[in-house]
Amino acid sequence: MIYKKVKQYALNNGFTAEDKNGLVYGQMNGVFFSIHQDPVTAAKHTVYLWVKEGSIAAVPAITDFLNQCTSKHQYLQSASYSGTRITAEFQGIGFKWGKNYVPCLDAFLRDITSYCNSNQLVPCCQSCGSSAGLNLYQIDDTEHMLCSSCYASTSDNIQRQTAEKSKKGSGNIVGGVVGALLGSVLGVIVWVLIYQLGYISGIAGLVMIICALKGYEMLGGHLSKAGIIISCIISLVMVIVAEQVSVGIEIYNVYKEYYEITFFDAFRSVPSFLEEPDIKMAVIGDLVMGYILMVVGAWGTIRQAYKNSSGKVSTRMVTSVTSANYTSSNE
Ligand SMILES: [Zn+2]
Repeated sequence: MIYKKVKQYALNNGFTAEDKNGLVYGQMNGVFFSIHQDPVTAAKHTVYLWVKEGSIAAVPAITDFLNQCTSKHQYLQSASYSGTRITAEFQGIGFKWGKNYVPCLDAFLRDITSYCNSNQLVPCCQSCGSSAGLNLYQIDDTEHMLCSSCYASTSDNIQRQTAEKSKKGSGNIVGGVVGALLGSVLGVIVWVLIYQLGYISGIAGLVMIICALKGYEMLGGHLSKAGIIISCIISLVMVIVAEQVSVGIEIYNVYKEYYEITFFDAFRSVPSFLEEPDIKMAVIGDLVMGYILMVVGAWGTIRQAYKNSSGKVSTRMVTSVTSANYTSSNE
C-alpha cells in the first residue's frame, strides 16, 4: 500500500514502514516524524512532526522556515504549523516525479529535522503541548501524537460519537426499502434507455446500485448494514427486470407490425425467446456486464457506507515516542 520507492527509502534509512496501515515513521537528526501514504495516489504523502519551541526562540520562526521550504522543495505543495504540529503535504506532479520525488522528500526531511534540532525544538502533544509520555496513535487513519491524558479524553469523545451513531440503529427500514426501490427504478430507466441506444446497458448497473443505496439513505434516514444488504438484493433483482423490459421492448417493436400484441404480451414472452441460444447468450452477457460494473463501481461506496454504518472508529497506539537524545546534536 505504501508507494514502493518511499517504502524502499524507509527501509534503507532504518525507518519503520507499516505497509498495511500506509504509514512510515522514524527519527532523523533525533527528531521524530511520520509519513502518511495517500490511499489513492501513490506519490502523495503527508509528513507530520510534533514540535514546539523549547527554551530558545527559533530563528527563523517555524512558519517562516516552512515558507522557505515550500519554495525550495519542488514537490512540497504546502506546509503549515498549528502550534504543536507541522503538516507538510507532498505530491508528485508533472514530469519526472518518478525519479525526483523521493530525493525531494528526503531533502525536506533533512532540512526540517536539522532545523528542529539546531533550534532545540521539543516534541509535544498535539492537543495540550505537553512533552511527557508521548505516544503516536492512528485514529481513523490519521496520525496523532498525544500524551496519555489527551488520548484518554480523545478516545472518550470517540466512544461517545460511536454510541450516538449506534443509537440511530438500523433507521426506518420500511422507508429505506421504498427509497431503494425508487432508486433502483431510476436505474432500470437508465438501463432501458442505454439498451435502446444500442450501448452496453451494463453501465447502468453502476447507476442502479448507487441510486438504490442513496434512495435507502434518503427515505430510511440512515444506511445501516441491513440497508446495504437490502439495497444490494433489490439492485440484483432489478437488473433482471431491467433486462427483461429492454428485451421486451425490442420484441414488441419487431412484432407489433405483424401481430396485435401489447408490450405486456411481449414482456411475458421474453422467457420463451431465451430458449434461442443467440438471444440467451446476449442477455447473459448484458447481465454479467451489469453485475461486474455494479461491483466495480459500487465497491468504494459500499465499503464507505459499511464503514460509516458500523459506527466504529479504529484507534491504535503505533509507538511510544521517547524524548531521549532528542536535543542531542548527533549528526
Ligand atoms: Zn496532551
